[in-house]
Amino acid sequence: MMKDEFVCNGILHPKAIEGLKLFNEKKFFEAHEELEDAWRQETGEIRNLYQGILQVAVTYLHITRRNYNGAVKVYERSTKWLKNWPEICRGIYVEKLSSDAENIIKTLKSLGVENIAQFDISSFPPITWNEKRVWTCDRCGTEMHEKNCKVTCPNCGNRFDCSDLNIYFD
Ligand SMILES: [Zn+2]
Repeated sequence: MMKDEFVCNGILHPKAIEGLKLFNEKKFFEAHEELEDAWRQETGEIRNLYQGILQVAVTYLHITRRNYNGAVKVYERSTKWLKNWPEICRGIYVEKLSSDAENIIKTLKSLGVENIAQFDISSFPPITWNEKRVWTCDRCGTEMHEKNCKVTCPNCGNRFDCSDLNIYFD
């Protein structure tokens, strides 16, 4: 079942943002720690997305440590958490992340456990995300426009203040 797109409105937990930055610097252990903090502190459904991303980080970490079975096992767990999200959720390109991770595992499996040392650990693709918030109208599904925290749907006129939805807003 497709998750409610409304879950994908709003901004990321600050620890999740740190985690994504570290992930893209290929610091997978540190990325995992930040994402785990975000997962712990978050109570909404979005925590499941953090869980999936952190498991991709751990998958890649296992590959860098030449742990074939660990990588395959954690990757399989991650797919459960990464499925059924909209293509972009809170600015994260979830679908791209899923297919990137799938390709990494295909490459790993084609090398096989005996040749894992040949895996090019510089080849991990970064997570694409933007800090620009992407809002989806909960009434009609149209992408909403944000200006100075006022969010408006160009289709149906639905509007709200972004701080209403954003528990991490100062
Ligand atoms: Zn609308």
